[in-house]
Amino acid sequence: MNRPYVLQKKIEGMTGETILKVEGLKKFFPIRRGVLSSVVGHVRAVDGVDLEIKAGEALGLVGESGCGKTTIGKTLIRLYKADGGRAVYDGLDVFALKKQELKELWKRMQIIFQDPYSSLNPRMTIQRIVGEPLRRFGLVPKSRIKEVVAEIIAKIGLNTDHLERYPHEFSGGQRQRIGIARALVGRMVTEYPKMIICDEPVSALDVSIRAQILNLLKHLRKEFRLTLLFISHDLSVVEHVCDRVAVMYLGRIVEVAGRDDLYQNPLHPYTRAFMSAIPPPEPDPEALRRRIILKGDIPSIINPPTGCYFHTRCPQVFDRCREEYPPLRTARQGHHQVACHLAEKA
Ligand code: SF4
Repeated sequence: MNRPYVLQKKIEGMTGETILKVEGLKKFFPIRRGVLSSVVGHVRAVDGVDLEIKAGEALGLVGESGCGKTTIGKTLIRLYKADGGRAVYDGLDVFALKKQELKELWKRMQIIFQDPYSSLNPRMTIQRIVGEPLRRFGLVPKSRIKEVVAEIIAKIGLNTDHLERYPHEFSGGQRQRIGIARALVGRMVTEYPKMIICDEPVSALDVSIRAQILNLLKHLRKEFRLTLLFISHDLSVVEHVCDRVAVMYLGRIVEVAGRDDLYQNPLHPYTRAFMSAIPPPEPDPEALRRRIILKGDIPSIINPPTGCYFHTRCPQVFDRCREEYPPLRTARQGHHQVACHLAEKA
């Protein structure tokens, strides 16, 4: 029987291995003013993004704060409504799903948030929080929920004696483990969720705890053959977890490449500047010297500049950049894509 939310036709170019394909995603937030709350403009948070993720792959989405990466994650899981474009995930036409069909999407795709405290209901015990997806999606009989929750809690490294406690009784790192357990509990009994969106999962944690949570995510990804969309402003965190990396600037993707390729040979002038700002593990005067300091203000995302959005800050800008937006195109390296006119000469 055909279920209405199961897509019959894939986006052109989708291979069997592709679990998520996004084309032309747009998300604009209206700016309202005056007593009548009239719309006076739009924040163009995501402005025509294409993405593809293969099953089992970890794709990092990086960029400065406000570049639109979190908006992409929240739109893909339908916490925000898209204003344009199309996304196909695991056979689902994501933006065409009706309200009553969203449960199917959330069964198959989960999200882990930056701040584990605000995403956990303070009035619920850990047992209830982690068991909630099992109840909501009807994955196991009520009588088995306790047993399945205990299994995932042990797997993410917490003590099962803590199940009747409340979120405020845990540290930040433990709360993020609880968020991960809630996202993944379905995998103890089904093949879902296949993909997790990790939205800055370690940014709110102490540096000493970050590595533990990243290693846990890496371990779980391997054990459950998970697909990850890993959103972060921190390139060193993404390097630790991801196979491929997409770099965003002002609501658009400017470069996509395999991790090693991107870190060793960044092609976009913005990526180069962004990477040069990563602090070296040890004090290094040479790294300081190589640092690219961008001049010029970040343009308004309400009124982006013409041509290449980066031209107001780019050290290599030339006339064409001010007129014509460079589309993301495959560079000399094959799988390396870059949105820069200079890449034509690469
Ligand atoms: Fe710089 Fe021009 Fe390339 Fe944009 S297209 S990144 S302005 S060189």
